[in-house]
Order: sequence, then C-alpha cells, then structure tokens
Amino acid sequence: MATREKINAIVAIACAAAVSLVVAALYRRLRRRRAAGWRCCSEFEDKPQNRFKRVLADNSYAPFKHFKREEKEEVSLKMHPFEEEITSLLENPPALLNFITTHEYSDMSASYVWIDTEHQLEYLAKLLSEEQVFAVDTEQHSLRSFLGFTALMQISIEREDFLIDTIALHDVMGILRPVFADPSICKVFHGADNDVLWLQRDFHIYVVNMFDTAKACEILSKPHKSLAYLLETYCGVSTDKTLQREDWRVRPLSVEMIEYARIDAHYLLYIADCLASELRRKSPDTSACPDDKFNFFFEASRRSNMVCLQLYVKEIESTPGASAAASILSRNLSVQGVTSWKSSEIKDLIWKLCAWRDLMARIHDESLRYVLSDQAIVSLAVRIPKEPIEVYDVIQQADLDNGSSNIYSILPSPSPIVSTHIKELCFLLREASANIDDVFRRFLQKHLGPIGCCPLSAYNYAILSEFSLKQTNTLFMKHAGEKFTSTIGKKASRELFVQKFSCKSPVYHNCRIYASDGRLLCYCDRRKLEWYLKRDLAKVVEDDPPAIMLLFEPKGRPEDEDNDFYIQSKKNICVGCGEKNHYLRYRIIPSCYRMHFPEHLKSHRSHDIVLLCVDCHEIAHSAAEKYKRQIAEEFGIPLFVRKIVDSGESTVATVSSKSLGVIEETGVSPLQLRTAAMALLRHGSSMPARRYEELIQIVKAYFGGREISREDLEMALLVGMSPHERRRLEKKKGLSFRHHEQSIIYKSSTSSNGETIENNIKRNNSIHISQESLKDYVKNIDGRQTNTSASDMHAGLLLSGDNSPSGNVQCLNKTEEWERRNICILSNGHGHGDLQKETCEAVLPSTSYQVPSAKAAKKLSLLGHGPHGKQVVEHLLNKYGEDGIRQFCQRWRQVFVDAIHPRFLPSGWDIMHSGRRDFGEYSVYNPSKKALHTAN
Ligand code: AMP
Ligand code: MN
Ligand code: ZN
Repeated sequence: MATREKINAIVAIACAAAVSLVVAALYRRLRRRRAAGWRCCSEFEDKPQNRFKRVLADNSYAPFKHFKREEKEEVSLKMHPFEEEITSLLENPPALLNFITTHEYSDMSASYVWIDTEHQLEYLAKLLSEEQVFAVDTEQHSLRSFLGFTALMQISIEREDFLIDTIALHDVMGILRPVFADPSICKVFHGADNDVLWLQRDFHIYVVNMFDTAKACEILSKPHKSLAYLLETYCGVSTDKTLQREDWRVRPLSVEMIEYARIDAHYLLYIADCLASELRRKSPDTSACPDDKFNFFFEASRRSNMVCLQLYVKEIESTPGASAAASILSRNLSVQGVTSWKSSEIKDLIWKLCAWRDLMARIHDESLRYVLSDQAIVSLAVRIPKEPIEVYDVIQQADLDNGSSNIYSILPSPSPIVSTHIKELCFLLREASANIDDVFRRFLQKHLGPIGCCPLSAYNYAILSEFSLKQTNTLFMKHAGEKFTSTIGKKASRELFVQKFSCKSPVYHNCRIYASDGRLLCYCDRRKLEWYLKRDLAKVVEDDPPAIMLLFEPKGRPEDEDNDFYIQSKKNICVGCGEKNHYLRYRIIPSCYRMHFPEHLKSHRSHDIVLLCVDCHEIAHSAAEKYKRQIAEEFGIPLFVRKIVDSGESTVATVSSKSLGVIEETGVSPLQLRTAAMALLRHGSSMPARRYEELIQIVKAYFGGREISREDLEMALLVGMSPHERRRLEKKKGLSFRHHEQSIIYKSSTSSNGETIENNIKRNNSIHISQESLKDYVKNIDGRQTNTSASDMHAGLLLSGDNSPSGNVQCLNKTEEWERRNICILSNGHGHGDLQKETCEAVLPSTSYQVPSAKAAKKLSLLGHGPHGKQVVEHLLNKYGEDGIRQFCQRWRQVFVDAIHPRFLPSGWDIMHSGRRDFGEYSVYNPSKKALHTAN
C-alpha cells in the first residue's frame, strides 16, 4: 500500500512536471513567435560585433573620421593624426637596431598569453612601452560584416607571444594607441598595407615607426615576398595558409588556429633581424655616406613608414553598389558576349539589384557576398523571376552552379536576408520602372528602426539619420541624371558644419543622447551616458564631447508634454529645435513695436526674448517680417520709410518691393546679413556692380527696404551677438579695447608686420585685415550665392557668437578652415547693456522722434520699421488701450509658435502671457487649444 501511494505521488509529481514543461515550452514558442514578428532578420543570431559599443567606421555613407589628438588643435578629421611624426621618420630614418638580442630564433614555446580583459591589455601596453621593438599581425573577419573587423591581434616580443582578443576588447583597444604611435618603438609587420588601415578603422590605432619585412624583401629582390617563403627559408617552418580564411570570430580558437596565429608574429623579429643584416651587407660602404639613400636599411624603413602614412577611407561610389555592378557587367560582358548585354533592361536591373544588395548589406552588417552572390544577381537580371519561389530557385541554382569550386558553397542560399526581404526583391524585379529612390525610402522606413523588423545596430544606425538618407538620395538622383538640388547640398553642408565645427558645451552637461533615428533627445551628464552604456542600451557615437545613441525607442520624446527628463537643460538651447551648440537671442515681439509700449508693459521682456539657433532664427525672422506686412495692411500703416528727416517729420512712403524680390519673400537670416554686410564694408567699392547690388539688397531687405548707411552695415555685423559674447571673444584673444567711433574692428590674427594688436588699436582705433586674407574671405562669402558651404556656415556662426562658455572661440582656434583664412572678427564691447541696444533695431534715447541732434538722427536712421511701429502702437493705445497691446503681443506669440512650433520653450511660457499668471489653458503645450486661440 505504502509503495502504491509512493508510486502515485511520484506519478502525480511527474505529471505536474511534464505539464509545466509543456506549458513553459508553449509559452516560449509563443514568445519566440511574437519576437519573430518583430525582428525577422536575425532572430536568434548573436553576431559578436553587435556587442561593440564604439564603432568608428559604421556602414553609412558618411566619411570616416580619423582620430583627433587632443594636443593638436588645428587638424582636420581627414588628416593623418601622426603625419608629422611619420614624415620626420621618413626624413631621418631611425638608426639600425637589433631586432633580437641573440640573432637566433627561438622555437615557439608551449605557452602564450591570451589577453581578453582591459586590465591585461593595460598591462601589455605598459610592458610594450618598455620594448624597443615588437612584432604585430592581425586577423580579420569579413564574411558576416559589411566593412569587416579585426578579430584577433598577435603581438610578439622576443620572450613572449600575446594573442589579443580584439572582439572582447574592441572598445578599449585604444589602450595600445600610444605604443603603436611611439616613434621610438619599432613595430615589425609583414605586408602591413591592410593591417595599418584595419587598425585605424577599428581602433584609431596609427602605426609610427615600422619595419615591414615584405618591403625588405622588395629591396633585397627576394624571389618571393610572402611570409610563408620567409618562414620556410629562415626558420624552416611551414605553414598552412588556408587557415588565414578561417572564421576568426570563434571562441575559443582551435589549437591549429592559435598555432597559426602565433607563427604569423612569433618569427617576425628574427626574420626582420636576418633581413636587416642582409640590407646592411648589401649597402655600399657605409662609412662614406653613413645615412643617405644608399643605405638599404634606411630605404626599407622609409618604404615601411610610407605604408604608415596611408589613411583608411570608406569606399565612395557614385551610386550604392555601383562598383560591384560595373565589375559584374564587365566580367559578364566578356564571357557572354556583347549582344545579350546590350539589353538596357538587364543592365538596369543589375544596377538596381546591386544597389539593393548594398543597402541590405549595410543595414544588416553583412558582406555583399553573404547577402547575394554576383552570379545570382546576373541570373536574376537575365531571368527576371516574379514570384518568391522562382526567385529562391534562380538564386539557389546560380549558387549551385558556381559554388562547388569555392569556400562560399557552405553559405545558405538564398541568404536569410533575401528570404526576409523577398517581397521587396520581387517588387524590384516586377516593377522595372519603379523609382528606386522611393523603393529605398520605403525599405528604410519599413524595416529599420524601433518598429522595423531589421536589427538596429551600432553599425547601421547612421543609415537612418537624415544625413545619410540625403546622401543616398543624392547618389540615386545623380544616377538618374537629375539635378543636384541646392537644398540637399545646403542640408548636407550644414550637417558637415555641425559635425566638424560644433562647439563644446559646459562640462557638466555636455553629453548628448540621440534617438535611434538621429534625433537629439537631450543633454545630460556623463553618468547618465554610462548608465545606458552599461546596460547595453546605447552605443557611443561621438567621443568629444561624448554622445550616445539609444538602441531602443525612448518612452517619450522631447516634444512630449510634462517630460521633465528632457527639459532639464532647457536654459541654453534653441527653444525651437533644441540646438545647443549655437543660438541667438530672438525677440518675439519686434522691437519696432515694443520700444513704443508703455514702460510697465515692457517689463515682461524675458518672457518674449528666447534663444534660437540660426536656422530657427531665420524662420522666425522671416515669419515676423511677413506678419509685419500683414499688420501694415490691416492698420493701413505702411512699413517702409524712404528717408527719415532730421526734424523727425518722417516722410513715409512705401518702397516698391520689386527690387527686393525673393529676399523679401523669404526674409534674411542673420548669417546672410552679416556676411553681406562684411563683404560690403570691406570691398564694397571694388566689387563688381552686380555683386554689390545683390549684397545691398540683402541688407536692405533686413532693414525694411530703406537706403543703407555705413552704420547700418556695421550694425548688421553685430546682430545676435551679446555683449557678454563679445567680451569673451576679446578675452580669449587676449584683447581688450574700448569703444571708439569705429565700431567694428577687424583683426588679423597674425599681424603682418609683427606689431601687437594693442599697439595697433591705440594708434588707429582699428585693425585692418591683411589684404590677402581678406580677399580669401570675401571670395568665400561671394561663393555663398551658389551654394552654402560648410565654411560659410562656420563663418556666419562665428560671427553670431555663442553663449556657451567655451563656445565659438574654441572653434575658431581649432578650425583649420578658419585658421587658413587667418581672420577673426571682433566687435567692440558696448558694455553691459541689453542686447536690444546692440542690434540693428537700436533704441532711441527717448521715445519721441522729435530729436534735433545729428547724432540722434543717425540713430533714427537705424530704426527701419520704427515709424511704422510707433504709429501702430499709438493706434492700438488710442483705440483699445492697454488691452490692445496685450492682444497684440499675443498675436505675435502666435505668429512665433506657428512659424517655429517650438518644442523647448520654458514651461511657464504662454501665448496668453500678460503679467498675470493665467497661462495654462492656452499653453503651447496644449495643441488642441491652439486652433481655438487662432480663431480669436
Ligand atoms: P595575414 O596577413 O596573412 O595574417 O592575413 C590577415 C587577414 O587577411 C586574414 O585574417 C584574412 O581575413 C585576410 N586575408 C588575407 N589573405 C586572404 C585570402 N587570400 N582570402 C581571404 N582572406 C584573406
Ligand atoms: Mn596573420
Ligand atoms: Zn533651432
């Protein structure tokens, strides 16, 4: 009985366990299926590169950014950061050294050191820093990655072999940067051409002082220069080079792979030593010319270091996939004969399929070959299957026909990428005439990103960003023979500007967080970044200042209401778009009206002065100018005065806006204004009449169409720059000067006669730009008419100033563009007054126009819309009293909100703001109320 009970109990338990197992399995499957619907591409695949947090070369079309050395201020990201050191080595080759102490090679011992922690790597860096020479080799993985990545690094010193797990240590490999760049430590490679570039691409490691045994072979005219030959000849070691193509991502590495990898570096020091001796023997009597070019060792060293000067670049194609398409076409042209390739449909399809493959490979971070083979592309283009099954068949057959002969035969055919995206592939094959641009845009929108099914990784995030999309666009458009539109050029150059010249923000919250679509979410401190990085929720996209990109869709966006998370650093950002790097003050209620308000109604100024970036500033200003015209019509009070006479009896007359043309319509940006004014001031008299007229129109448009005086031009240069900014600029340049008649001072940072700037000021009250640099600068400004280059943007923004403590001045020092031009523009500090008094819309000493003095008349001429404003305000006060003014302000806030759709306004800001705290109901944060208000 007791046994039966026991058995029953056991059966019951077993059943319960079985049921729970089944339930768990079902649940797992359910979850998996749900997940599959979400991420269809690489559902359970864990590619090691997905764990990299710092990806220097992503798969976007953006150019590769090289390492920027902190101590080097004026270098571009396209330059070799260690060019100077390497050039110096080329000129003075390092003295002949002993690569090993004993001139004998040691067999590989049983032990080696596997390095896969940051701590170990630091230890190795320290150890190597005390060596005179070490040997290096790397192994790459390229099949399951678009650009490839370094999977292993072998470093050997005489007594030890180190194998560095560059996958595990990918993000911290920079630890070895100093030893690789140390000119006093020789790095021995064999055939370093690729290694040098790979090290730059993955780790920003640059080799300075190298001895390449392949270069030595070249000079010694060896029958072969392969490492296998050298190993055989000098060390009697034979290697199996097929191991070269192993999948070096696997961990742990097999015994054979470890052996192979060690051999590639272990004997290099000995081989280098042998080759160096031969080079020495081959050199003519060195006592006659000890260090000249007849010294063969020096020549080997020179050639090796020439390799170090190479820079990694991402391949640039006229259109995505173009080079592959060209190569496929040319190969098959010769095989299949010209006739069948005449068909433009086939050619077009090959081009499209190559473009598709290129994009898919970039997004999924796979090699082109993994996505779709060349021969499959040819078959698809020739046979044009329409249904998924047929497409699979064609691909499979093509790979089978071709596959048996190569190592790729083990690859899945069709690839999982093809299977996942079969619909689009069929669409591409079916709709021969489809606009490829639209097709790709759809692909990107549908599949990538938080709601798409393709993985969003550190490698492809940038493909999402507007810049890369625009770039892609441009490329496609170029292919289609369409015109490169200037807006795209403008956008791209603006991006380039932001990328290249963006200024540093205060240290305590200079870190940025971007959404996966490239949208700036917020500024924060370093700790917040680290929080995300630790949890694998983000990847680093910028080092200095640091920025991360979230790999998930955040719960809220900055524009969401009540999202304190994002509003924490709202103080010094563009209230429109959140731009932080630069901003100007903007007055929501134009000064031409406000200045005539009764004193007590002016007191809410802070509410109606906001910060805007140049872009938003331009939009807001343009909208305000338009609205002024509307008001002018509504009240029957014309905007423009032709001339303001001394007596104050303003002769009011409308100026024909014909001459102002397009500018009138779109408004003038402060940047446009300043550059135009600058050019006019310096070269007005000598510039071509047509150009002169163009520039005058720009300035005129800003000043409401009236005639322009020299003061206007000088004032125009100051638009948007606060006294504080100017003081900082002066301080930074070690300058301090007082206000003089000459209100604008131009400074050449390297005075040609060596005279100090202060002295110059004392004597002349001004400093003049050297003619040459000026010409250069003006040329640059003149160039802007056709397209806005990044340097123009920079010039403009430099002028605009920046409120961040280390703002533009720093850019100015660091920017090679700018340094080349050798100019900086300083304005005198007017003191501590309000910005209002500094800008073009100057404030009168009294609110009346009846000012007799000539000085005041001059100021009067700066007013632009002043007379109009005065009449409007008087009209409002007479007819509606102060309520009229309040309503008038509300109208202007509405204009501003409609133009900018500001997302970063301070929480208390309100259209209905009146001094009483009655905001809330009509808050801009409450869009539903907006329409209601507009109806008022
Ligand atoms: P090695 O310079 O021999 O150490 O090769 C370094 C890396 O280059 C290897 O890990 C491979 O990824 C790549 N590689 C070199 N030669 C070949 C080849 N013939 N085929 C494929 N990959 C190669
Ligand atoms: Mn190797
Ligand atoms: Zn903005």
